[in-house]
Amino acid sequence: MSPPDPVPALELGHDLHGLVATLHNGPGWRVAVWTQGCSLRCTDVCLSPHLLDRGHGRVYPVDIVAEAIRRVVAASPMAVEGITILGGEPSDQAPAVAALARLVHQDGLSVMLYSGHGRDRLAADLLADVDILVDGPFLPAAYDATLPWRGSANQSLILVSDRYRPADLAAAWDRQGKGFSVRTGRDGRLSVSGLQSRGAAARIAAMVTGTI
Ligand code: SF4
Repeated sequence: MSPPDPVPALELGHDLHGLVATLHNGPGWRVAVWTQGCSLRCTDVCLSPHLLDRGHGRVYPVDIVAEAIRRVVAASPMAVEGITILGGEPSDQAPAVAALARLVHQDGLSVMLYSGHGRDRLAADLLADVDILVDGPFLPAAYDATLPWRGSANQSLILVSDRYRPADLAAAWDRQGKGFSVRTGRDGRLSVSGLQSRGAAARIAAMVTGTI
C-alpha cells in the first residue's frame, strides 16, 4: 500500500491568530486568509506590498489552517458563512490553496478566492472547491469604488459553483456595502482590509494609532 499523500503546506502572510471573521471580504461574515507571495506583480501600487515576497510569511500544513478556521468559526458571535482567500497571489500555491478549500467545503463553509490571473489561466483543480472568484489584476486606472468586493472594472465577480445566486450577492452587497476592517494582532501589528488605495489604508492606520 502506498503511503498517504503528504499534507500540503501553505505560506500565509500572518500567523494563525491573524485568522479573524470580517464583514468586508465577500458576502456575509468570512474568515480572511492572506497567502504570502506574488509572482504576478500586476502593479507597482500593490495594496499588499508586505505579501509580495515568498519566504517572509508563516508556513502551516493546510489541515492546521483548517482547524484554526474551525476554532474562529466556533468562537464567533456572528454566523460565519465562509472563508475568503486573498494574497499575495493564491494561485502561486495552488495545490495547498485547493486542499484548504476542500477541507473548508467539507465543514460546510463557502469559499471565495481572489486571483490576479484571469479565470482561464487558473487550473480546474484550484477552482474545484471555489464558490466565488474575483479574477484579474487590480488596475488603478480602472478603479471604481462602486464595484462589489473588487476595486477595478477589469476584475470580474464570478459564481463558480451554484452555491450563491446573483440575487444572493446583490442582497449581501445591499446589506453590507463598501467598508473596511481594522484589527490588531496579538503582536500589536495593525491590519486594515477592504480598502482599495494605499492612501486610504495609511490614513486609517494613522487615525487608529493616533498619529494624525
Ligand atoms: S496580483 Fe495582487 S498581490 Fe500581486 S501585485 Fe497585483 S495586487 Fe499585488
